[in-house]
Amino acid sequence: MNWMERGACRDSDPELFFPLTWETHPTLARRICRDCPVRVQCLTWAVDTGEPDEVWGGTTPAERRRIRSG
Ligand code: SF4
Repeated sequence: MNWMERGACRDSDPELFFPLTWETHPTLARRICRDCPVRVQCLTWAVDTGEPDEVWGGTTPAERRRIRSG
């Protein structure tokens, strides 16, 4: 999980990545993820572990469920 230390979100408000926020303002978290240098690692980890909450790798939980069922 060393990639987390290089995440573009490390200095961002964590609230942006929690469900109550991204459901109303999903683009704020996605905008941060879009240019993140470890987006691929983050998304891969979230899909592989079945992370059920929050925005990871620019995706919502519903989007990751679709990827897993793909
Ligand atoms: S992809 Fe998004 S959630 Fe993942 S480390 Fe980067 S900024 Fe954070």
